[in-house]
Amino acid sequence: MLDRYGRVINYLRISVTDRCNLRCCYCMPEGVQDVGMKNILTFEEIWEIVRTGVNLGITHIRITGGEPLVRKGCVDLIRGIREIPGVETITMTTNGVLLGNYGKQLKEAGVDGVNISLDTLDPEEFYKITGKRELQEVLAGIRAAKTAGLPVKLNAVNRKELDPIPLVRYAQEENLPLRFIEMMPVGYGKKYVGRSNEELRETLEAVCGKAECMTNREELSRMGSGPAVYYQFSDLKVPVGFISAIHGKFCDTCNRVRLTAEGYLKLCLCYDEGADLRRVLREGEKENLRTIMEQTIFRKPAAHCFEHPAEMTETHEMIKIGG
Ligand code: SAM
Ligand code: SF4
Repeated sequence: MLDRYGRVINYLRISVTDRCNLRCCYCMPEGVQDVGMKNILTFEEIWEIVRTGVNLGITHIRITGGEPLVRKGCVDLIRGIREIPGVETITMTTNGVLLGNYGKQLKEAGVDGVNISLDTLDPEEFYKITGKRELQEVLAGIRAAKTAGLPVKLNAVNRKELDPIPLVRYAQEENLPLRFIEMMPVGYGKKYVGRSNEELRETLEAVCGKAECMTNREELSRMGSGPAVYYQFSDLKVPVGFISAIHGKFCDTCNRVRLTAEGYLKLCLCYDEGADLRRVLREGEKENLRTIMEQTIFRKPAAHCFEHPAEMTETHEMIKIGG
């Protein structure tokens, strides 16, 4: 469907849990409480919302969280989504810790690709960022996903302290696209000063050669339809993507809405505007679900306001929203 600004909205990111097995400092440090299972959408409720979303033109689904693989039965949930006619792609964003166990099952359940978050290859730095000593599990998870035949992309948040060179070398060795995401001032992310992706690209150019923006449609379509701008560096064979939410606003072409684990249909990361679909489903208004979703999506705000944090109305942590 089109929103009020004429943007095609065809992408739904579903957070399936607000729990996680890591404690990333910018997302869910120690001490953040989960909301309790009774407040989390059931699989049936998620399937109902996806069916209605598909009727409104949603074709791409991304499963995220929290850490989606800590939700019991996550693979069954995905199988159920795969069976909904009209769903064209299902992808997942994961921290990779449990992928060693689930890579093959995800492929068999019909997952089209996984984005794996990897901010560092240094075990001590990994511990500092995530509060856990699970780097080896993540690396094993990446291998398992590749072995299972799942297309993999690596994502790193562009913290000020990030050293991109080891990550780029690893991506090159593993032959995987790597993307850098600008730190967003959402939840605990507000405590961190990010660096612009442009600055990071310049740092990379000094080591990896001249960067050329990729424009070949066929190559880009293999990377998916997200907001990343991909570059080819002259001394690298893998593409490097930059998701520049802060310094490279891409709101004009935004095609996404989000469903939080608690069932809130969210229109933009910056604002708390949306609709409580859990209430609609649980308090006897099920027949209104389609109309409420349609009217809500139509109201999607024109653009984020990260550059003016005082205008932000979103107060939840990223773990509650679903990144
Ligand atoms: N647990 C999974 C993972 O880490 O990939 C999925 C959920 S996580 C919230 C999704 C993505 O959001 C991760 O790549 C994470 O690094 C990113 N993220 C979390 N907080 C962020 C922030 N404040 N700014 C930018 N990206 C953030
Ligand atoms: Fe967990 Fe992902 Fe948030 Fe890290 S970024 S705490 S892995 S949900």
